[in-house]
Amino acid sequence: MSRFKAGAVHAVQRCADVINAASRGDGALTEALHASGEDVTDLTTEQARHLRDSATALRAIAAAGSLTEACELLNTVLAGCRAPRLTAHEGTTPWHLHIDSDDAEWGEWFLASSAMALAITITETQQPPLGICQGTDCDNVFATHSPGRTRRYCSPTCSTRARVAAHRSRVTRAPSINASGQYI
Ligand SMILES: [Zn+2]
Repeated sequence: MSRFKAGAVHAVQRCADVINAASRGDGALTEALHASGEDVTDLTTEQARHLRDSATALRAIAAAGSLTEACELLNTVLAGCRAPRLTAHEGTTPWHLHIDSDDAEWGEWFLASSAMALAITITETQQPPLGICQGTDCDNVFATHSPGRTRRYCSPTCSTRARVAAHRSRVTRAPSINASGQYI
């Protein structure tokens, strides 16, 4: 896998993790960023609020009903980002693209780096890169290409729970007959 593609895969996963953390409070946001390798200690209230705004915009892309809708929402986000520029962060990293400001706060950086990774992933796969878990009482966002995850659920836990619930409803539901005389 190229460094470019590996970076996008990592950023899409981080995007999902931070969106999910945003609904669990500021401490969870810090933890999610830290777990993805970012050097963050404590977020100010303002930084956390900006990150949650970015997470809301990105969650809408995950909730899109089609690839076209996801791309249109993503285009709106990209239109709000800076013009692309190459940087090596003064020789400390390989050259790569940025579409945020030099002095971007966490919220701007998160939105811009996620948007670019989502755009790269869509170009590569022609699939929505994020989904929302179909599990009962779960609205976690997941990266559709994460290993070990299915396309409909955020985790094996939600997938198993849904399978058990579907089985139970089949077992307990009394058969009924529709207008054409078929059992439904
Ligand atoms: Zn779930």
